This record gives sequence, structure tokens and C-alpha cells, in this order.
Amino acid sequence: MTTKANCGPVWVVAEQVDGRIQNVSLQLVGKARQLADELDVPVEVVLLGQGMKDVVEPLFAAGADRVYLGDDPVLNWYHAETYTEMIVSLALKIQPEILLIGSTCTGRELAPLVAARLATGLTAHCIDLKINDQRILEQWIPAYGGLISIICPQKRPQMATVASGVFPLPDMDESRRGELVMLKAPEAVSGRIRTLEVVRREPETVALESASIVVAGGIGAGDEDGWRQISDLARILNAALGCTRPVVDAGWAGHETMIGQSGKMVSPELYLGIGLSGDLQHLIGVAGARVMAAVNKDARAPVFEQVDYGIVADCREFVPLLIEKIRAYRQSR
Ligand SMILES: Cc1cc2nc3c(=O)[nH]c(=O)nc-3n(C[C@H](O)[C@H](O)[C@H](O)COP(=O)(O)OP(=O)(O)OC[C@H]3O[C@@H](n4cnc5c(N)ncnc54)[C@H](O)[C@@H]3O)c2cc1C
Repeated sequence: MTTKANCGPVWVVAEQVDGRIQNVSLQLVGKARQLADELDVPVEVVLLGQGMKDVVEPLFAAGADRVYLGDDPVLNWYHAETYTEMIVSLALKIQPEILLIGSTCTGRELAPLVAARLATGLTAHCIDLKINDQRILEQWIPAYGGLISIICPQKRPQMATVASGVFPLPDMDESRRGELVMLKAPEAVSGRIRTLEVVRREPETVALESASIVVAGGIGAGDEDGWRQISDLARILNAALGCTRPVVDAGWAGHETMIGQSGKMVSPELYLGIGLSGDLQHLIGVAGARVMAAVNKDARAPVFEQVDYGIVADCREFVPLLIEKIRAYRQSR
């Protein structure tokens, strides 16, 4: 068992975009603070980027005791090989007990690269983290139709990724101070990958995370025409459009619109799930919704056990009818 004497710090590898610390990183620092207090060890954050010295304060305010900062033009854009190298060499020196990374596009690549280099385990897309009475990190995920916890008893660090919105933003204590440790960046980016240009893609619809209505479609949409009907419904309701994993696999929607354990967490006023079965791996991402409704042609679909309003209907007939009714209602007012 790890005792306090041989227990390293709890680490968060933080992420910044355009010099702004991402919410998921602050959420993880807040969680790391709780875990570290239970283990009686410090919270340390690794942050890489350029022009970052003025943006580390929120990390201390969220609960970090120490920030390792790599601040150099070489680190301006995320670079898998350079970032992995810097994090791994520091981890080998400091020996963190736990290492948390946001389940973002970057984190999803970086976490397994770091875990493989450190020859340790990694649990992706956790929905809760707890310290058990053996001082081991329980990493909770939905699986086998319920929730299970994964542990990594032998190897260190115990690594997990967590999506934005799983943990709340911590109370920020602006008066908190910590230690800033500067890291030496490499002379140049190493390896086979080079970033030539960064092209930003503007979201086509309302952002999922902040939408008050979310319309989510499943593979029951049938084909691209069926999917287009669901997209039209989202548009007419001024809702964000989300989907299940099979929809991404079918190529009807991008991964950034997937809701669930390995996608986004949403908390709208209204969630409308259409042509989806209600698998826990999807519905875990909707746990924050106030009112939930679902349309499924199978009256025994598990989704009906989870929602406030269930509509047994073929979505290919129901969705165009609903659009028509909404239009007629609006014209009549
Ligand atoms: C580790 C892991 C992580 C995962 N992460 C995610 C995640 O983040 N998000 C996610 O969504 N999934 C995730 N999954 C996949 C998840 O387990 C389910 O497979 C997926 O959510 C099911 O998608 P679905 O409901 O669209 O498809 P299905 O389960 O196949 O359900 C389709 C439903 O459509 C209904 N239907 C069919 N035709 C019609 C019609 N014409 N009209 C109305 N209803 C109709 C059917 O009755 C059925 O209930 C993950 C899986 C694993 C193993």
C-alpha cells in the first residue's frame, strides 16, 4: 500500500487555448485538490504553451500548490511528441501518484502517449474518481450496463482522463498562492510531426455545452435523409444537435457532436433523444438535463425508463410532422 511517506503529488496536465486555461483543467484541479487532501499530498499542475506566465493564477486559485510551466515559442501549439517528452521526463523525476488529463481532443491523444511511455495504466472518460481505504484511486466508468471502478494498484502514476462538465468548477480562492517552477523547453520541436497552420472551425449550430435545448439523434434515424430531418428539427427549435456514437461511425455527424461518456456532457433545459436506445454510455452525458423526452419506435426501448416523456413513434414519420406542427403553430401566432 502507498503510505504518505512514499506517495507522490496529484498531478493535472492542464490545457490552454489562446492563453486561456480550459474549464476542464480547472475542474480537474478542483477534484485533484480533494484527492490530494485525502492523501495528504500536494496538487501540482503541468502547463505548456507560450506567453503563459500571466495565465497561471486561476490554477492556484482552483487549488494548485505548484505549477510547472513550460513557456516557450516551441510550445506555442500542442505538439504530441514534444509535449509527451516534457511531461514524461518530469514525471519520471517527480513520480506523481495520480495524473489527470482532460478528455479533450488534445488530452485523448496525449494521455495514452504519456501512459505508454510511463508503462502505467490509463482509464479514459471517467465519470468519478475516489480514493479507497487502500489509498488507491478508484476510476469510475459506465460499463456492462452499470458503473464499474477500475484500479491500477501496482503502477504509478494512476492515470485518468475526464471530460469537461463531469466535475464542477471549484470555488476560486483568488488569494491562494503557490510555487511557479519554470521548465526548460527543447531547442526545437522534435520528431516527425510539424504544425504548419492552425485552421479554426466555427461551430455550425448552437454550442452543445451551453444550449438550453439539445436534440440528439441515434442510429434509428436510418440514413442520411433521416439524419437531415433531425438536424432540421434542431435548427427550427434553435437547439444544439447532438448524436450517439453509431451516428458518428456512420459519418452523419462529427465526433464533436457526440454526447456521452466519450463525448460531451450537456445540461440543457430540454433534451430530446430521437431514434436512440438510451444506452448508459450516451445518457451519462445528459445527466444534467432538466426535462428529458425520447422518440423510439420500440415501446420497450430502455430509453423510456430514463425520460420524463416518451413518444412511441417512427421518427421518419414523427419528425417531419413535428416540424410541420411547429411551423403551423408559429404562423398562427
Ligand atoms: C467505452 C465505450 C464508450 C462509449 N461512449 C459513448 C458515448 O460517449 N456516446 C454514445 O452515444 N455512445 C457511446 N458508446 C456506445 C454506446 O454503448 C451505444 O452503443 C450507443 O450509445 C447506441 O447508440 P444508438 O442508441 O444510436 O443505437 P442503438 O443502441 O442501436 O439504438 C437505436 C434505437 O433506435 C430505435 N429505432 C430504430 N429505428 C427507428 C425509427 N425509425 N424510429 C424511432 N426509433 C427507431 C431502435 O428501437 C433502437 O432503440 C460507447 C461504448 C463504449 C464501449
